Amino acid sequence: METTQPKKKRSLLPLWILIGMFAGILVGLLCLWLPNWFNHPEWKEPMVNFTTNWLKPIGDIYINLLKFLIVPVVLISITAGVISLGDLKKVGSIGIKTFLYYLCTTAIAVVVGLVIVNFFKGSFPALPGANLTELEYQAKEAPKVMDVIKGIFPDNALKPLVNADMLPVICIAIFLGAGILAVGKKADPITNLVNAANEVVIKILMMIIKITPIGVFCLMANVVAVNGPMIIGSLALVIGVAYLAYLVHIIVVYGLSMQFLSRMNPFKFFRGMMPAMITAFTTTSSNATLPVNLECCTELGADKGVTSFVLPLGATINMDGTAIYQAVAAVFIASCYGMNLTFGQMAQIVLTAVLASIGTAGVSGAGPIMLAMVLAQIGVPVEGIALIIGVDKIFDMGRTTLNITGDATCAIWISRLEQRKAAKKAVKQL
Ligand code: ASP
Repeated sequence: METTQPKKKRSLLPLWILIGMFAGILVGLLCLWLPNWFNHPEWKEPMVNFTTNWLKPIGDIYINLLKFLIVPVVLISITAGVISLGDLKKVGSIGIKTFLYYLCTTAIAVVVGLVIVNFFKGSFPALPGANLTELEYQAKEAPKVMDVIKGIFPDNALKPLVNADMLPVICIAIFLGAGILAVGKKADPITNLVNAANEVVIKILMMIIKITPIGVFCLMANVVAVNGPMIIGSLALVIGVAYLAYLVHIIVVYGLSMQFLSRMNPFKFFRGMMPAMITAFTTTSSNATLPVNLECCTELGADKGVTSFVLPLGATINMDGTAIYQAVAAVFIASCYGMNLTFGQMAQIVLTAVLASIGTAGVSGAGPIMLAMVLAQIGVPVEGIALIIGVDKIFDMGRTTLNITGDATCAIWISRLEQRKAAKKAVKQL
């Protein structure tokens, strides 16, 4: 997809983000290895504590900065997106296409996860020291399906904004945009205000994005130093299975989607998406990655009006990675309990995992909360989440990367459709 903008100087930011990530991994590993190399094992604790007490807070500041703007970004960009679509019919048609695309890709994701995890089911390791009767995971009560749907519609206009409750915020934004469109000319002052506010918010985000390499470095160093290679080792297989499923989904589903739906070279797409993918991998939050994703999609030639509607919606309701994780985790936990899931239970996983991923907030570590809903549905003990909660961060890095990449494929596809439509209309008018 070609951009009409003049060619900009190539940004070095993606390279710096990569450097930040690898430097962070190196520092994390050095914290674990240096004490042994120098025969001073007592250095290890202070070194790991250094990453927790000094580096992680800097990473947290970066995430806080991204997060504080999320509600304004989602509210204003979706409202502006709806307004920029021009008429209510278009909002409806793009909305339906987006929703169906998200639903289908998420359902495919669960199936991919289930097929792959079933291959490896027989070789899941007996977890060292895991006494299944003594597991403690204080499962928060998983919301019921109808409660998730009911929760989309707010009973108060301010509460969702204050609580950063994204589904109702999206609902408010769509109504606001639709109302402005319905009023038409008379609402021009509000339209101008929304558009100006949109620019301001995006400018602030660009300032924050510039410090991404530092944030990524600090977060990565701490994750590696704290979790270390051992913890990764004991659950390596199930993590490997999840990552294999993530990879298959990225290459097959997103690759095919880019090639055949968007007619864009998948390599070009993945190269362009690198900054957003690395940000998702390190922040483990779709919401926090939203600004970088908006930027990457625009750079790849997606329509601004479309991205500002499709991406925030996707960051909240489209979670392919989370859906894969739920399928893999459910089968893994069931195996640990000696349960062999039936075909019917697998089908239930597909349905509930799709709904659960819609209801999952685009924040770090939200997946296991909704996993409780899937486990409860198929009769697997919810406490089993304790088996994998310790390494959730590692699952989360991959699933968030998938979550935001899926959103981007949809934004580019819809942009393509709209551009084709506009071109056809232009030809007709000639
Ligand atoms: N961290 C994920 C996201 O923000 C949600 C999850 O925990 O699955 O997309």
